[in-house]
Amino acid sequence: MAATAQAHLFEAEGLAASYGQVEALKPTSFHVADGELVTVLGPNGAGKTTLLRAATGLVPARGRIHFQGRDITGEPTHKLARHGVVMVQEGRGLFGQMTVKENLRLGAYTRDAGAVEQQLAIVFGLFPRLKERYMQVSSSLSGGEQQMLAIGRALMAAPKLLMLDEPSLGLAPRVAMEILETLGQLNKQGLGILLVEQKAPLALKLAKRVYVVSLGRIVAELAAHEIKSHHDLARYYLH
Ligand code: ATP
Repeated sequence: MAATAQAHLFEAEGLAASYGQVEALKPTSFHVADGELVTVLGPNGAGKTTLLRAATGLVPARGRIHFQGRDITGEPTHKLARHGVVMVQEGRGLFGQMTVKENLRLGAYTRDAGAVEQQLAIVFGLFPRLKERYMQVSSSLSGGEQQMLAIGRALMAAPKLLMLDEPSLGLAPRVAMEILETLGQLNKQGLGILLVEQKAPLALKLAKRVYVVSLGRIVAELAAHEIKSHHDLARYYLH
């Protein structure tokens, strides 16, 4: 399909996904603009992970997806990575018996050798601990370091849009903050980010916009700063 005028970086229209008979994500439309950080909030089981998985081809989905104005509906996850859409899954999805080096280099499979070194320097700049642990087996890293590695591996593909599923899960508050602040820094450099996060107050500090998901659908879309004036949402998400 031809590029549309004023296309968003990423646009999903009527995206829906089911597990067997259960429609975990009801037809849902959302977008991420160029250089925008958008956060997705919602209670456990609301469908946030399914939304990200449907958007990145990790579960079969209905609906349409455009990226930079191009119709990329139905393309598999590895092709989306080539376009610049990469997801960091909950639980990190690292290869535990592989070293930090091997995991990072796997993330760069779409890149040529020169670009790999350049991207590696960027990742080490963001996460110096990955440089210190470069030859270590990744299962020997702390939880925070493993999350840094998962994000670092995603960045090796030089994404234009990074989707993250609860990157702070299970981490000490200080480490979680460090990781979320790094995402804020990446966003300031122009990276589009779609962030599912339970630490809502932190995510809302970084985000420009927020989608609230409940029972498999987006029930609210608002500017992040507006949430404090919605008492029901503020009570739930700003404590
Ligand atoms: P959490 O915050 O707990 O991770 P979530 O908002 O990300 O939750 P999803 O993981 O997308 O929610 O789950 C949405 C619904 O789909 C839930 O009812 C969940 O039980 C169901 N579900 C998720 N994965 C599967 C699966 N592989 N098979 C069957 N049902 C699933």
